[in-house]
Amino acid sequence: MELLKEKIKQEGKVLSDTVLKVDSFLNHQIDPELMLEIGKEFAARFKEEGVTKILTLESSGIAPAVMTGLYLNVPVVFARKRKSLTLVNDLLTAEVYSFTKQETNEISVSQKFISENDRLLIIDDFLANGQAALGLADIVDQAKASIAGMGIVIEKGFQDGGKQLREKGYKVESLAIVQSLANSKVTFTQVEEM
Ligand code: 5GP
Repeated sequence: MELLKEKIKQEGKVLSDTVLKVDSFLNHQIDPELMLEIGKEFAARFKEEGVTKILTLESSGIAPAVMTGLYLNVPVVFARKRKSLTLVNDLLTAEVYSFTKQETNEISVSQKFISENDRLLIIDDFLANGQAALGLADIVDQAKASIAGMGIVIEKGFQDGGKQLREKGYKVESLAIVQSLANSKVTFTQVEEM
């Protein structure tokens, strides 16, 4: 998605050879117009997949997920990373090792929001080693629901997650695939645009 790649080139900060910071439009401040375009693009890529609900992870997945939900006309559920006092019963949980925080979090979703008949589109902001996406997929499996695919805003193609998820047979659509962050420079893998 050219608009997204331009934004990454202009505003992304390369923190190391493996970490990209995009806090001016996705991870802290949010660019609503760009999120709307991202939602439109995910909706186009998954419109034939029978999506009934979107599942994401707080907090940075929420903005792109909500915009996608708007276009696909389906609800959006986000997994929580911290235990909430009001979220105690009937939880579906999974362990997720965080690449950026280097710690394991338990993520949870109330089981009342995912039913066996649901077909979920998993959305996240970044794909690195695939831990977040696999944790969300685990929650969908526990609910005996099905997975329509995974929509990733920024995939880091030099890390293993994308390969792992595609090998498992998931339809993974990434709007920008970063090939390298070496020498403080962002280069992208050319992928076919729809
Ligand atoms: P994974 O679970 O695929 O290893 O990592 C994906 C998760 O880690 C995303 O939910 C995202 O929050 C975070 N993440 C991974 N790599 C980056 C990165 O380069 N930049 C930022 N901002 N977040 C990242």
